[in-house]
Amino acid sequence: MPENHTCSICGSTNTSLFIETNAMMHTPNKEIYSFYTCGNCDSKFLINPVNEEQLSKYYTENYLPYRGAHAWGKFSKFVEWDDAKLNKARKKTVLNFLPNQKSIQLLDVGCGKPDFLFEISKEKDISVTGVDFVAADWDSPKYSNLSLMECDWKDVEFKHKFNVITAWHYLEHDYQLSKTVSRFHELLISGGIIIIEVPMFEGILQKIQKKFWQGWHSPRHMNLFSKKSWSILFPSEEWNIVSYKKYGTLSAFTLWWLGYRERRNTEWATSMEPYFWSLVILKIILSPIFLFEKLLPFGIQTVVIQKK
Ligand SMILES: [Zn+2]
Repeated sequence: MPENHTCSICGSTNTSLFIETNAMMHTPNKEIYSFYTCGNCDSKFLINPVNEEQLSKYYTENYLPYRGAHAWGKFSKFVEWDDAKLNKARKKTVLNFLPNQKSIQLLDVGCGKPDFLFEISKEKDISVTGVDFVAADWDSPKYSNLSLMECDWKDVEFKHKFNVITAWHYLEHDYQLSKTVSRFHELLISGGIIIIEVPMFEGILQKIQKKFWQGWHSPRHMNLFSKKSWSILFPSEEWNIVSYKKYGTLSAFTLWWLGYRERRNTEWATSMEPYFWSLVILKIILSPIFLFEKLLPFGIQTVVIQKK
């Protein structure tokens, strides 16, 4: 008899094995991780996560987002340019949904290297706070005007409530979803919004790349949300789902390329320089397909939810 596992999103025990993956963006990668699917809400969740205390073993030189543009050596300027494009897209998403209020307090959870906050803080009337477990490059003078807190934001006291909370690729890493949702509720003013971007397993890339799809990112990702999961996590008594989109600010091509490299057993901790030109060529060849990233569901979703 297979063991019963409880869905991390709806609590149902009507669950079964969906896919097994190796540790991703990690060397050695022999460990096997099992994602289950929920018969009630259709979400996928990791049944054998590592202890939170052990997680730092997976955020090393192998983890490309931590190395950022530096990983690309002499091509780092191109990557910085691409990152700047991403942060402008995030700013645009926020501005589209900005509540009609004079002065906006914005909280970014899991802010990482706070370039998005730096970008949006250029807007007048928006004050920003960023929280994360690790201060990634925060001492750079560029960020000196940002309010950044290295802490567990779920337990910390803030001086005020927020009009907007952003969570870019945060919720799939979360070990305590229900605590997170309650905390969102406490921290938002009435009418305030949360903008969430996460991977979407219902997209084309998961179907093509299967266990190499970077949305699994095992063991860093714990929860892969179905469309149905949003109304379960954010019930209509307290929340309004304002917008749901099957794309995000992260480029679908980038998501595909990471899975493509995963399949080829890339040594992630080494310089990415040798991969640069092949990436450019692939980007050009595949551009007719990824041109449709806002029309076809590739593997990213964005949901905007308002507190009633
Ligand atoms: Zn479920």
